[in-house]
Amino acid sequence: MSIQARKTALRFLFEPVIDKLGYKFTPAKEDADFLLEQEAIIEAETGIPYCPCQARTRDRAENMRMVCPCIPFHRAHYDAMRRCWCGLFVHKDVTDPDKLRQFPEAKMKK
Ligand code: SF4
Repeated sequence: MSIQARKTALRFLFEPVIDKLGYKFTPAKEDADFLLEQEAIIEAETGIPYCPCQARTRDRAENMRMVCPCIPFHRAHYDAMRRCWCGLFVHKDVTDPDKLRQFPEAKMKK
C-alpha cells in the first residue's frame, strides 16, 4: 500500500476512535496531512503507527503508550491542553488550534 493510501486508511480508522474520546482531527489541514504522512512512514518502517512527535525508547511497554491515537494513555494532560501532544487531534469544540498552548505534563496545574 502506498503512503498516500495508508494516510487515507489511518484517517478512516482513527476517526471513530477519537470521536468517542471527544476529539477530532485538527482543522489545520496541512498539519494533519503532514503528521499522518509521518505516521504512515513510521508504520511502513516498524509495522506500528507510532507517534511522529514522541521519541521511542528500547522499552516496548513504554513505546506502546505512543501508538496513535495515544490519547487514553495521556488523557489528563491532553485534556488540559485540549489537543494531543502533536496537535493532530484537538477537542471537538476547538476552531483555532493556533491558540492552544503545548506544555509538558510536569507543567500541568494540579
Ligand atoms: S500525540 Fe497525537 S499524533 Fe502523537 S500518537 Fe498521540 S494522538 Fe497520535
